Amino acid sequence: MFSTYNPSNLQKISEYQYIDTTEIENIIQKSNSVFMQWGKNSIAERFNFIKTLINSLTKNKDLLAKTASREMGKPLQQSAAEIDKCMILCQFYLQNADFFLKSNKINTDGTEGYVNYEPLGVILGVMPWNFPYWQVFRFAIPTIIAGNTVVLKHASSVAGCAQLIEHVFAEAGFPDGVYKNLLIEGKQVKEVIEHPHIKAVSLTGSEKAGASVASIAAAKIKKSVLELGGSNGLIVLKDADLKTAIPEAVKARFQNTGQSCIAAKRFFVHSSVYKEFLEEFTKQVAALKMGDPMQHDTYIGPMARVELAEDIEKQVNKSVAMGAKIVLGGTRHNAFYTPTILTNVTPDMPVFNEEVFGPAVPVIPFDTFEEVVALSNNSDFGLGVSIFTTDIDAIKQKVHLFEEGAVFINALVKSDPALPFGGVKRSGFGRELAENGIKEFVNVKTVYIK
Ligand code: NAP
Repeated sequence: MFSTYNPSNLQKISEYQYIDTTEIENIIQKSNSVFMQWGKNSIAERFNFIKTLINSLTKNKDLLAKTASREMGKPLQQSAAEIDKCMILCQFYLQNADFFLKSNKINTDGTEGYVNYEPLGVILGVMPWNFPYWQVFRFAIPTIIAGNTVVLKHASSVAGCAQLIEHVFAEAGFPDGVYKNLLIEGKQVKEVIEHPHIKAVSLTGSEKAGASVASIAAAKIKKSVLELGGSNGLIVLKDADLKTAIPEAVKARFQNTGQSCIAAKRFFVHSSVYKEFLEEFTKQVAALKMGDPMQHDTYIGPMARVELAEDIEKQVNKSVAMGAKIVLGGTRHNAFYTPTILTNVTPDMPVFNEEVFGPAVPVIPFDTFEEVVALSNNSDFGLGVSIFTTDIDAIKQKVHLFEEGAVFINALVKSDPALPFGGVKRSGFGRELAENGIKEFVNVKTVYIK
């Protein structure tokens, strides 16, 4: 038995019981038997269900948004925007999946050669609470359109969101078993991965969970995709347009109350514009409204759990003890942590060398481009970097210097259905979204005719 709690007021929302081995077996068997038909359907037939899924998301949008805000504290407007993004993702694959999955002709020494992209079977997703709908959809939609079926272990703290996702799939008329919720705890994931019907696994979450899942999958020679943490740099070069850079930097760090893998977590600002940047950035951050996530004008909610706010508090306090200076914020009340800006930060401090998964950011000056490349790359992670500059031609020549899965120029790093998403280094491997994402869980079948 476990409970979910509202991080705003720490009140219990609901109680749940994890399912047992028999129920896990039933769900996997169901998912596998439905795959036998689902995988044979034409893509046009699968599209019909995705279209009704969009209707179901529209119909349930308010309930979905409120449930996320209650369970993990996301400000309501941002929860609603997350549902919209799931619909945009569905539309993107409706428009493009046919093209992505069509057979490719290849010239060989035979009379004919081509590659087919065929589904694999039942795919397990293990997903986190921070974008409780988006993370699930960006994995499940392309995976299902490719002809697979999905069983999903969601984060326990968003068990209500998990049930609603299963509900919208059912309401959209999907055959029972195409998308199934697995209400299990982390330690039960092993028996699911090891089940013969499970063909692969995708995990978005912490390094610890990722390492465990990938090693269990590897022992059974099953594929895994890992989307793990990040500590993105945000670089402001001396020729940057600060009017663009500063509002974008505020969003890059503070949307979703800073609880995003691709949030900009270390700011590097050229010393010639450092003072001006810091003053205006501090002003804009101080103006962000913190409070009840159910209020429409709230931008900063509570963190998803009190322990997460305590973790940030420890990282900031330890950095301050090592010489960092707090310019703004630095206080906590239960799960609420005030938006915090730090200066005098060095690479040996936790706010630099650990992932800070919440609303706190160091702003660090630099003098040369070589110096900022080294600072930005000085991280175990490699999810993405944002660079602000007006000299686009010059920066395009330097993109290769960054050890990242993505480089965004004059914009925050975002996950966009049209763009491959994923990291290098300890941020994981594999890609989601775009053509790369839909091809992660397919059999790339070569056909050769002599
Ligand atoms: P987490 O503890 O790893 O949880 C993620 C999921 O893994 C949850 O469903 C969790 O279930 C499950 N889990 C936990 N331990 C497990 C284990 N040993 N074996 C199998 N499953 C296990 O992650 P988190 O701390 O909640 O999420 C924050 C992390 O996720 C951050 O590092 C963040 O950067 C990363 N993240 C990455 C991306 C990306 O796209 N790269 C996106 C969002 C978040 P329970 O809830 O039941 O424990």
